[in-house]
Amino acid sequence: MTGSTFRFAPSPNGELHLGHAFSALLNSDLARARDGRLLLRIEDIDVTRCTPEYEAGIYEDLRWLGVEWEEPVRRQSDHFGEYEQALAHLIREELVYPAFMSRGEIRAHIAARPDGGRNWPRDPDGAPLYPGPERELSVKERRQRMEAGQPFAWRLDAAAAMARIAGPLSWREYEDDSLARIGNVEADAQAWGDVILARREIPTSYHLSVVLDDALQGVTHVVRGRDLYHATAIQRLLQELLGLPPPRYRHHRLIVDAEGRKLSKSLRHTGLAALRAGGKTPDDVRQLVGL
Ligand code: GLU
Repeated sequence: MTGSTFRFAPSPNGELHLGHAFSALLNSDLARARDGRLLLRIEDIDVTRCTPEYEAGIYEDLRWLGVEWEEPVRRQSDHFGEYEQALAHLIREELVYPAFMSRGEIRAHIAARPDGGRNWPRDPDGAPLYPGPERELSVKERRQRMEAGQPFAWRLDAAAAMARIAGPLSWREYEDDSLARIGNVEADAQAWGDVILARREIPTSYHLSVVLDDALQGVTHVVRGRDLYHATAIQRLLQELLGLPPPRYRHHRLIVDAEGRKLSKSLRHTGLAALRAGGKTPDDVRQLVGL
């Protein structure tokens, strides 16, 4: 099948490990099997944690694995202006609001509930939903606080956003790694509450930049880890609000360590550079991840 565009989108905030290898190789195998394209995107919007050394390591590890991607690589930190334009659109549409509560204030607000916050709703990652009293602030009050230099983040007004789109929200999800069968998943975007779409230090967010880039780069197939399954609901909502075409999704299994834990970037023995230095071959890596 032609016309399929896949992407691998790592963040250069640590070394690649077996989990990344599985995702990159799966994308690469699928693109080859379908005579499609494979793009590489460097997701480095968090300029405080991403480094050129980690980015160079990504290229080295992927080349070693035999993954071939199209040039030029899109580096998100080169495109802040584009994300800001999309944010400006959402601000004009009154779908985001400046949220002033600090982490400590959120905690205190929730703890002050009669039940001590025990029944406060939590998002799919387990974090308490944003209380959002600023949804009601007047335009004047917002402006005054912003001009006074009070720190804030731009948050999506989830209820307003859901009211804006027509009908229920869903996405197309493949049921297997060969992308043979596909089903429909209902997208519960409100489960995330009012997510952050931009901060003062980082004028975009993972959700905002990922949907813009997937659309801009013509990505048709998003194949990524199961840990991002629920995030797809927010991304679908943003695609609707911004008029972007939705790709199809496959959220693949995660590679876990001997204790069944998700791999982290600090685990030395599963890092690709360490495995390579220890004499492992790309074929060994394929075996280790079950490909
Ligand atoms: N940059 C994200 C990560 O490294 C992946 C984003 C995605 O595939 O949508 O976890």
